[in-house]
Amino acid sequence: MGYKRVLLKLSGEALMGEQNYGIDSSRLEQYALDIKKIHDEGVEIAIVIGGGNIYRGVQAEASGIDRVQGDYMGMLATVINAMAIQSTLEKHGMYTRLMSGIKMEAVCEPFIRRRAVRHLEKGRIVIFGAGIGNPYFTTDSTASLRAIEIESDVVLKGTRVDGVYSEDPEKNPDAVRFENLSFKEVISKGYNIMDMTAFTLCQENNVPIIVFDMNKPGNLEKLVLGKEKVGTFIS
Ligand code: UDP
Repeated sequence: MGYKRVLLKLSGEALMGEQNYGIDSSRLEQYALDIKKIHDEGVEIAIVIGGGNIYRGVQAEASGIDRVQGDYMGMLATVINAMAIQSTLEKHGMYTRLMSGIKMEAVCEPFIRRRAVRHLEKGRIVIFGAGIGNPYFTTDSTASLRAIEIESDVVLKGTRVDGVYSEDPEKNPDAVRFENLSFKEVISKGYNIMDMTAFTLCQENNVPIIVFDMNKPGNLEKLVLGKEKVGTFIS
């Protein structure tokens, strides 16, 4: 079993690598090479990238900035990350389009669903920047929403852990990793995978989610081409 069209969600924090702020270029390189492997196999790829390595809306209130203003700052942060990943993908010979939830003609196209789908059909990697363009949302909700809109087969949530565990594996060495979970189990057991808005969007529209370790080279290819079971599959 392989996937034809995927939406890959990358967190901003993952881009920091070993740093405590900003973008680690070696992490970007690894991501680009992993993405290239599935792109070369003809998989259609859309990417949503977070902004947590630069700015988060919830930070704003602590520093005396209005929440909504902070959320817009967070959305702009995602555009910086999106531009960084765009450059790295293009450096490795992939064609890309950056589409933004906030109009920014000089650097990206506005998000238009039909156009996004057309880009994918032509083999271009579509990167969605600036979230959905509204405050009080996250890039996880953006990932779910865009996945539904473009009829992605799956949401691939790339993280730093290799799936969903019964308990925090860093605190409890006996924690077990799940290979499969249902949406209902995730909610009833209170596993924290994405915010509720993002999660229920996938549940209601039957889009499966795979939580996997994106920082391990080769994982993306194994899971997208169906070569090996990787991460936790939620459906
Ligand atoms: N954000 C928003 N609306 C959106 C997407 C993002 O307001 O549609 C803001 C929000 O403040 C969020 C920040 O952008 O905290 C960065 O995104 P996120 O925290 O989802 O990034 P990640 O955790 O994936 O790095």
